[in-house]
Amino acid sequence: MTTAQGNIYARAAGRKGERDELSAFAVVPLKKYCAAGIKESGMRMLLVEDEKKVADFVARGLRAERYAVDIAYEGLTGWNMASSTEYDLIILDLMLPGLSGTELLRRLRRQHCNAAVLVLTARDATSDKVENFEAGADDYMTKPFAFAELLVRIKALLRRPPTARTQQLQIGDLELDRLTQQVKRAGKRIELTSKEYALLEYLASHAGRVLSRTMIVEHVWDESFENLTNIVDVYVRHLRAKIDDPSAAKLIHTVRGVGYRLGEVSE
Ligand code: CA
Repeated sequence: MTTAQGNIYARAAGRKGERDELSAFAVVPLKKYCAAGIKESGMRMLLVEDEKKVADFVARGLRAERYAVDIAYEGLTGWNMASSTEYDLIILDLMLPGLSGTELLRRLRRQHCNAAVLVLTARDATSDKVENFEAGADDYMTKPFAFAELLVRIKALLRRPPTARTQQLQIGDLELDRLTQQVKRAGKRIELTSKEYALLEYLASHAGRVLSRTMIVEHVWDESFENLTNIVDVYVRHLRAKIDDPSAAKLIHTVRGVGYRLGEVSE
């Protein structure tokens, strides 16, 4: 946790005597916030919703599930909170005063924010869904909604590893864009076949970790036959020729007897 997070914008859960401070936030010192017993599940969420009734209803339900929930009643407040605090999940309304949900989402993804984002909105047009998924949403739910469904969707999102949500991967001077599948090294575009790309993306999204040939085969080839593991070596050779050979700094490392690891430092 950074010092900037020492003070967080939060409304304590279920405090009595709250009235209509729709967009007012008390700055609650973190210690006090934790002492209030909110953060217990270890998962922290931000709810950006200008309709107080909906926000309070959702927050109450989630807190009963032992999630820590912060609320922002308008877009810019949501942006400030999301960019200063690390959330596991953000529930985002689209029509918001100050800054629209879609714009907030774009800003977050530009800043490489990895939080899962579930859009919760009255807008049910396909074009809205497409636009927001393209902006980086992980799920989209329309109002009116049942809390039980919202909860299972949230749980499903929280089960996914955070790296799966990052559109841009960067390891040293190697860059991958998972949306366009573009790969660059030192700013220079590298053309890969689709299997080479899949292999590189798997290595890059687990950068620093040793991946066995079996893991690689299962992930990249959707097969688990032992005799396919040789194919991994062949493809790694292809990748090295394109990614590493032109550069002095090697990123793909062989871990003898196990498999491969992608990273800046060789061990
Ligand atoms: Ca709204």
